[in-house]
Amino acid sequence: MQTRLADWIKDTAAGVEADAILRKCVHCGFCLATCPTYTLLGDELDSPRGRIYLMKQMLEGAPVTQRTQLHLDRCVTCRACETTCPSGVEYGRLVDIGRDLVEQKVPRAPWDRFRRWFLGSMIPYRGLFGIGLALGRMFRPILPSSIARKIPPRSERGAWPAARHARRMVALAGCAQPSIAPGINAAAARVLDRIGITLVEAAPAGCCGAVTFHLNHQKEALRFVKANIDAWWPHVEAGAEAIVITASGCGTMVKEYGHLMRHDPDYAAKAARLSELARDISEVVAAERSSIAAKLVPASGGEKIAFHSPCSLQHGLKLGGVVEAILRDAGCALTMVPDSHLCCGSAGTYSLLQPAISRELLANKVAALESGAPDTIATANVGCLAHIASGTEKPVRHWIELIDQRMS
Ligand code: SF4
Ligand code: SF4
Repeated sequence: MQTRLADWIKDTAAGVEADAILRKCVHCGFCLATCPTYTLLGDELDSPRGRIYLMKQMLEGAPVTQRTQLHLDRCVTCRACETTCPSGVEYGRLVDIGRDLVEQKVPRAPWDRFRRWFLGSMIPYRGLFGIGLALGRMFRPILPSSIARKIPPRSERGAWPAARHARRMVALAGCAQPSIAPGINAAAARVLDRIGITLVEAAPAGCCGAVTFHLNHQKEALRFVKANIDAWWPHVEAGAEAIVITASGCGTMVKEYGHLMRHDPDYAAKAARLSELARDISEVVAAERSSIAAKLVPASGGEKIAFHSPCSLQHGLKLGGVVEAILRDAGCALTMVPDSHLCCGSAGTYSLLQPAISRELLANKVAALESGAPDTIATANVGCLAHIASGTEKPVRHWIELIDQRMS
């Protein structure tokens, strides 16, 4: 694609990066068929190619309107288009740049500003989110069913093994996950403990920054990034082998730390190192496959699992198929899931900001997951877990909890 970026952007870091990405797009349209919003809405401007065109217009100096903002807001940032694109267009990076610029140029309505501020002031803060969720559980009986369904029931964290191994890894504690599903990181710790790896959480580390970043408060998100770098660095210096992330959405963000901090002289080198060390828990388990296999108890058989591969896992981290292989190794019978490349509609705060599209995506996803009559639905990201659980009666678990149950 030929480009002619406007003077106000062309020599900036964002302009140079956006220009290089835009030039790779050849307008072929292969990405349209795998875009969940284009599939649902049928509008070219709700497709990757349409959004790329809108961002190109803006970067070339055309007036930016609420129409541009609307179509960028409707993107679930699933990055299915990146997986499909034969030209290697890094749409995720481009839309980050585009959204940041639109945010600066198009004022939002007061209600939209308020709800974005509220979400950004609540979700990333573990304590506040926990209090909000506890209140939601208390008042669930009198809440409208559309809201009540979204409030997950309380669950136990379970035992966290004592630190006893020379091999150590650091887990991202996260923000919402400890309140929604506190058992996930503890299950990961037990699995790794059985194969001789101690998993610890670095207390001062918190939200990975993705919530704030995807609400287009990108500069503010860097505060969370820096806080995590400061919290993890002493562990890295003490020999921690990896930063382990059990929510694939957060993993995608942590693997971007090096890129996000590349212009910060105080943090660039540390951020790059931490991105290198960042591992989704599936990467850790896959690398320790033989040790894990030795500890698996023979499957009693019969339990059918439908695995929902989150967009962040298959399109963001490019780890499609890894969890499925681990579950099969553990004796799980995986059901077929049609259109498994499509988003469930969770997408961070998307389900709250774009509820109508999100509901449709959820209904389609639940129908696909239930089509093989599974006993349990498994996934790899806490946001997808809570979202899918709001639309099905089947139990929805993180896959590492299933592996934990199958180990001696
Ligand atoms: S990220 Fe997902 S929703 Fe957004 S344009 Fe790409 S395929 Fe469509
Ligand atoms: S598949 Fe890639 S090159 Fe083709 S239109 Fe989509 S983004 Fe552009």
